[in-house]
Amino acid sequence: MAYDAVYLDYNASAPLDPRVAEAMLPALTDAVGNAASSHRFGRFQTVAVDKAREQVAALVGARPGNVIFTSGATEANNLALKGITETAPPQRSRILISAVEHASIRRVAEWLEINGICQVDRISVTPLGFTDIDELKSLLRDDVLMVSVMAANSETGILNPIAEIADLAHEHGSLMHCDATQMVGRSYFDAESAGVDLTSISAHKIYGPQGVGALVGTSQSLKHLTPQTHGGGQEQGLRSGSMNVAGAVGLGFAAELACEEHGKDADRIAPMRDHLVTEIQRRLPDVTQNGDVTKRLPNTANLHFSGANSDAVVSNMDPVAVSTGSACSAGVIEPSQVLLAMGLSDEAASESVRFSLGRFTTPEDIETAIERTVEAVTHVRSLNDDYNKPNTSDGEHHEWQTTTTPATTERTVEQRELVPVG
Ligand code: PMP
Repeated sequence: MAYDAVYLDYNASAPLDPRVAEAMLPALTDAVGNAASSHRFGRFQTVAVDKAREQVAALVGARPGNVIFTSGATEANNLALKGITETAPPQRSRILISAVEHASIRRVAEWLEINGICQVDRISVTPLGFTDIDELKSLLRDDVLMVSVMAANSETGILNPIAEIADLAHEHGSLMHCDATQMVGRSYFDAESAGVDLTSISAHKIYGPQGVGALVGTSQSLKHLTPQTHGGGQEQGLRSGSMNVAGAVGLGFAAELACEEHGKDADRIAPMRDHLVTEIQRRLPDVTQNGDVTKRLPNTANLHFSGANSDAVVSNMDPVAVSTGSACSAGVIEPSQVLLAMGLSDEAASESVRFSLGRFTTPEDIETAIERTVEAVTHVRSLNDDYNKPNTSDGEHHEWQTTTTPATTERTVEQRELVPVG
């Protein structure tokens, strides 16, 4: 692993697995020609891409011929939502999305609405972070074109009952799209048995390269899509542009490794995640977990540190890289939309930190992360007068437990530039 730092931000982007890099090398160095050409050089590329299609299909539970390579899950989500609405019959005028979808669903949905292309309804989530099934049922009618609900949430790791949601969607003749970007390679996902018509995935969440992903459909659902990128007609006309052969090979090999190793990875990672949370909670008061703790990804924990602004905490955790759910939009830092949708207050949402572990996380990394979290939170809280005020109702202060390594008060609370996290 190329990082000296302790990297616990796998949900934003997982490092490239060296085995994937090796598998990509021939496509980067030896191969010439365009996969669309019919000479031997082109054929060499096509063979490599076709193998990748099989590997991706096996991971997602689909047919190789129904894999459309894209530049990532953002493009796959755009193709799914815009592509389906363009040729929709007039009586199918609404789409439903969950309120906590990734920006590449939420913003496309806003765009479709603003441009009068279709009506969008947002399905609330429960306080534990699940899609509210009762609300979905009340919103579903025969005018719904598509339901789009993510399999696993990037910020909380909460797993949605996708098969149940797909069944409900199908009862009303609606298509089911699932953004499975955080799910595949971390937990079991099978589009066919779950009844998902269109699935979005991304290579860089499963130890593949950045800038490549796929929209995987069924033969039927792909027929309903209108291309959003026009040109040479590659990928069944749905995604023109010369094939990113090395990227596809990387995604394919990462998918094969994910099929073989996700169970083993989860068995190793979940206990480390649980130890991290238990130890932080043992050593710090006023720490709670956001979202359900039983039905979530094995690698994710989202912690609320009362009285400690998460951007300040994260900025003080070097060399440990974790993430807040906040995003910088037009120069204003906004708390996580996901946590707000779950009913957290602005304050609680801006005091929450996501830890996401992965294949290369070690027990030593976790010990460092525990130490640094305790130090950073203690330090940030020490600067918060409100948190340190005596509780007038019972006359007590918040008691801080002594940490084995005292907080390094000379570290400054600095603001960093924020970008939306994955
Ligand atoms: N959907 C989800 C749930 C994600 O977590 C991400 C990545 N942050 C995306 C979509 C976008 O993926 P990509 O980076 O491949 O465009």
